[in-house]
Amino acid sequence: MALEVSFRKEIASLRLGDGQEFRGEGILAVTKALLQSGVSYVGGYQGAPVSHLLDVLLQAEDLLSELGVHLQTCTNEAAAAAMLGASIHYPARGAVTWKSIVGTNVAADALSNLASAGVTGGALIIVGEDYGEGASVIQERTHAFALKSSLWLLDPRPELPTIVRMVEKGFELSETSNTPVMVELRVRACHVFGSFTARNNVAAAVSASRRLAEPATFNYERLSHPPATFRQEADKIDRRLPAAQKFIVDNKLNETLGPKDGDLGLIVQGGLFNVLNGRLAMAGLSDAHGNVQLSTHVLNVTHPLVPGEIARFCAGKRAVLVIEEGSPDFLEQAIGQVLRKADLNTALHGKDMLPNAGEYTPLVVAKGLSAFLAQYGRRAEPLDTWLNEVESHRAAVDKAFEPLPPRPPNFCTGCPERPVFSAMKLLKRDVGSIHVAADIGCHAFATFPPFSQGHSILGYGMSLASAAAVSGTQAKRPISVMGDGGFWHNGLLTGVAGAAFNKDDSVLVIMNNGYSSATGTQDIPSSLPNEEGRGRGIDIEATLKSLGLTWVKRVRTYGVAGVLTTLKQAMTEPGKGLRVIIADGECQLARQRRVRPAMAKALAAGERVVRTRFWVDPEVCTGDHSCMRLSGCPSLTLAPSEDPLRTDPIAHVNNDCVGCGLCGEVAHAAQLCPSFAQIDIIQNPSAWDRLRMKFSRSLIRLLGGRTAAMAPATPAPVPAE
Ligand code: SF4
Ligand code: SF4
Repeated sequence: MALEVSFRKEIASLRLGDGQEFRGEGILAVTKALLQSGVSYVGGYQGAPVSHLLDVLLQAEDLLSELGVHLQTCTNEAAAAAMLGASIHYPARGAVTWKSIVGTNVAADALSNLASAGVTGGALIIVGEDYGEGASVIQERTHAFALKSSLWLLDPRPELPTIVRMVEKGFELSETSNTPVMVELRVRACHVFGSFTARNNVAAAVSASRRLAEPATFNYERLSHPPATFRQEADKIDRRLPAAQKFIVDNKLNETLGPKDGDLGLIVQGGLFNVLNGRLAMAGLSDAHGNVQLSTHVLNVTHPLVPGEIARFCAGKRAVLVIEEGSPDFLEQAIGQVLRKADLNTALHGKDMLPNAGEYTPLVVAKGLSAFLAQYGRRAEPLDTWLNEVESHRAAVDKAFEPLPPRPPNFCTGCPERPVFSAMKLLKRDVGSIHVAADIGCHAFATFPPFSQGHSILGYGMSLASAAAVSGTQAKRPISVMGDGGFWHNGLLTGVAGAAFNKDDSVLVIMNNGYSSATGTQDIPSSLPNEEGRGRGIDIEATLKSLGLTWVKRVRTYGVAGVLTTLKQAMTEPGKGLRVIIADGECQLARQRRVRPAMAKALAAGERVVRTRFWVDPEVCTGDHSCMRLSGCPSLTLAPSEDPLRTDPIAHVNNDCVGCGLCGEVAHAAQLCPSFAQIDIIQNPSAWDRLRMKFSRSLIRLLGGRTAAMAPATPAPVPAE
């Protein structure tokens, strides 16, 4: 399989049984909890921070087949959500996973229909909530989907026993209330490390190895189709909601920590508890184990709320502070309504003391907590001292240093996608500026310097669709860029079929790097079949041609001159219609993972190994750095010039170079300079290699050249994987 790491250790921990101690990350604990819950089928679409769940299961196929768990590698999140349809009629527990909010957006149609019909078997959706500092997607919350579709939303306190309990109880909650349940896992919850006491895995009653002999009998009421939908809407509110609320109370899914009495209280989303607890500890109001001394209601279930539970917590308190990340303030509004209806005069605080937008980091929570405590005359001196120290430290750092130069993210060294953007940069010289519709994936790095290409990003696989009206209203054809992952995820239908249908006059570049690289090099339908992977090698070119497209060309990405010629052709050739360029080049990360161990093995066996590197001739380089502006390779760096008449630093290739050749290609295609040279480093050379080297050195010396600088005397060893 193409995955970036091996999960042998993790798989072993999935086999732990009754009473044994499981140690590991939050997301792995979720995986184990699914198996302990007797899950029948699992699926999903990769994306941080929940890729790990599927990646581990993909490598644990032996264990899954022992338990009869069906595993589906879904082509997008809509497919994963629709897969939960198996739980509508059958008593089969299913779990799917994806990154939210983007994945939930893609899955929305199937999710709405699933929620309307309701489920018999427990249906769990594990969403990786990519919100806050370091998030890679738009800043929205899954909570809105839970509200609009009446899906229950769990937001477990980030410690392993609670996470595991919420997964197990989540299935029961789903079955009791016939409603799909979402388990929201924030980035920190996915990666929190801890332990819990494991239970035996459970083989499901309905599974891949215990198949049902007959399908369910026809029941119109289980279809999300009118008039059943009208009854389902009422059922959601009249029966499923109270059933869920009763289950939440009976099973104490939410937790009230600390003293029962007291005039102040905190209500916190479960996922934020650790951040809050750290600040409470700093204020002398808790410890590292969560023994809080200020009454705290932890919402491990953020939808539905239980009004009676909230009212009981608030009754008798002078004020409560709601710690709810993001906007709108769904919880605060709902709690306000509970207080009003219960005729309680507890003062309600939240977004008046905490920010409306952005992650609730320790600093943010500290400020809100400090403001709340101060308003009600509580001293939290250590916390305030810490806040003052942080602020003054920040001010001192700002004063001491000049602002640091920006360091935008970049393609990996040797990435096959970089050359295409170098060619697109050169294309400007011939055809002028072009509208570029960008997409999700590694190629989105091209929106950063030195390429700065891309006018819009509308979603995964949506670039071509987003250029539809541009192509109809501009003199020049737009160029849309999408990856092979995006192509299979959504681009084939929303983009390509739509453009073919409408005869859009447009250019599409498909980066065919072989994997869903940005998420960890998972296989996609066009990944080549190998011993372990799921790749089927479905041909993108044949798929395009099956839609009637005739202008489809393939280029090797590293051949910049060839890519440039093909792009120029696509932009300028007369006629109308979609022109597709499939840019072939294997993800360099995946390639290096494949090639390096093989090279190390060959070296150890004394076999001849050739490594290619590039080199800049310091005597020729003028130091104008145009090669860097055109390639952006991190291996292409600066070195002081040896020539006293040149003050500017020259270009230099560092030791990370993987020998992709782009810098040389770019220098050639743009007619920059002849500074670049290819060097083949031969380890375990043959007699012929040695003879050739001797001859070359003699010849160079004869012609008056130097040889020592041309190649290191002792080549660096190939690092083992
Ligand atoms: S992960 Fe692969 S495709 Fe993505 S930037 Fe790195 S080399 Fe390029
Ligand atoms: S050959 Fe050039 S572009 Fe490729 S990795 Fe080496 S320095 Fe970077």
